[in-house]
Amino acid sequence: MTNGEIADAFTLLGDLLELEGAVRHRVLAYRRGAARVRAAPASVAEMALRGRATDLPDIGATLQAKIVELAQTGVISALEKARERTPEGLVRIARLEGIGPKRAVALWHELGVTDIEGLRAAAEAGRLRTVAGMGPSTEAQITAQLDAPGAGEAGAERISMGLALPQAEALAAELRAVPGVLRVEVAGSLRRGRETVHDADVVVAASDPAAVAAALDASPLVAISAGAGELRRAVTTHPGLRIEVSIAPPDRFGNLLQHATGSAQHNVRLRELALRRGVSMSEHGLTAADGTVSVSAAEEDVYGALGLAWIPPELREDRDELAVAARGEVPRLVERGDILGEIHMHSDWSDGRADMATMVLAARDRGYRYVGIADHSQSLAMTHGLTPDRVRRQWEAIDELNARTDGITVLKCTEVDILADGRLDFEDDLLEGFDLVVASLHSGLRASGDEGTARVLAAVENPHVDAIGHPRGRMMGRREGLALDIAAIAERAAATGTYLEINGQPRRLDLDSALARTALAAGARLLLSSDAHRPEELGYLDFALRVARRAGARPEDVANTRMPDARRA
Ligand SMILES: [Zn+2]
Ligand SMILES: [Zn+2]
Repeated sequence: MTNGEIADAFTLLGDLLELEGAVRHRVLAYRRGAARVRAAPASVAEMALRGRATDLPDIGATLQAKIVELAQTGVISALEKARERTPEGLVRIARLEGIGPKRAVALWHELGVTDIEGLRAAAEAGRLRTVAGMGPSTEAQITAQLDAPGAGEAGAERISMGLALPQAEALAAELRAVPGVLRVEVAGSLRRGRETVHDADVVVAASDPAAVAAALDASPLVAISAGAGELRRAVTTHPGLRIEVSIAPPDRFGNLLQHATGSAQHNVRLRELALRRGVSMSEHGLTAADGTVSVSAAEEDVYGALGLAWIPPELREDRDELAVAARGEVPRLVERGDILGEIHMHSDWSDGRADMATMVLAARDRGYRYVGIADHSQSLAMTHGLTPDRVRRQWEAIDELNARTDGITVLKCTEVDILADGRLDFEDDLLEGFDLVVASLHSGLRASGDEGTARVLAAVENPHVDAIGHPRGRMMGRREGLALDIAAIAERAAATGTYLEINGQPRRLDLDSALARTALAAGARLLLSSDAHRPEELGYLDFALRVARRAGARPEDVANTRMPDARRA
């Protein structure tokens, strides 16, 4: 019983209860429980059987009993009963934009629609508009969504780097402690900084592969462990991430790491280059015409043997990296050590979960020299956005905080909302008083690309705006965000000295690396942000950093590598 299976059952139960109109807190209890179980690094079924699942936040005795029931009988009777009452297919229908639980139930009762196929038929027959509250425009909106692949599915097959990387790194850390293991690295698309991945790869240098296999079988992080030959194991973590673990003797770890990092196309080009030099290349080494094999412990030597400078993994996508490396002109990409601070995080003055001092000290612990508190502005009532009066009170609190805090400078920032017409949520005279202003879109994120571009451009042209936060407004699993004309925006951003953000929240990663690359090509600079709402989220900046590297960003392309007073330099 994996954590993923338990979480899926709770999610479905919560969704069915919502369709039935159950009280909100019951629905939320199952959803929160599902999220906790899915993210738990150990087997929650085993914890529940020992009576310890209640140690997890959001898991009470009721949920624990259901986990035990599921683990022992394979079903949760409450879920089976809910399934008998309400067609399961309505869950997917309710997830579609413009429908929701109430309308899904109305579609069922009034039109007999119980699944996506039935919905499609009803939409094609023009019958959706006969349901109360739904007109031709809702019908068109729904039809458009039905044409997209995976309509109403819970989540895309690919998962965010922000969820996969911590799991792969945790497993790597565990393997580093196994006797006989010399080196462990996360490889594959995660190492290349892909924003979303299907699965993960971990490579291990070890003298005793059997000890690695035994460690994986016994790992508390692993739900399923299967062999695939002596030097390969496929494991699945409790949250459901598949990780392929490859093992090599230490003397050819470099060959394996290079091979397992990819991309496939990069490796094809590399093998072609090797063949032109009379050697064949594989994960086992370079084989010369006379049959002699040369192996490398270090990845640098694999590239060196082919006359190339080492290429950062994020650039291995078969663009022009081999030619660049042959000329010895590989750019020095921005690194963690270049980051001096960040300016987009939240405190409990708006929707953050910690007070300013806690956030600031956590930022100082990360080695930052400055940090900006950028709470939300007044129109985002849901986030407890700040009115101008509260802004001025927060400034006083920041002055006091600066007076009693050593080693880091706290900046007065804001994440001011970009309103529907492109104006900002604060007047100019207030904006004047901030050290730095991040302007973000939080509404109208399903509008046309042209409308979105116009709003962002209006904010870029505002002389008070220093950066555009999460420009596209994507939320993985929920919406793609705006199809912005990023080249046009970046051109004006370059002209006005406005930074474009790479937001490191796992479900955002916005800009993504492709858009960030376009922005850099147009001359714009990037701002890396964690958008942290609690201290432990400050680490999300590292995801933004990987996306920036994948976009080819050098230190001088990134705002966070300089002190804020030099930001326009
Ligand atoms: Zn935001
Ligand atoms: Zn934010």
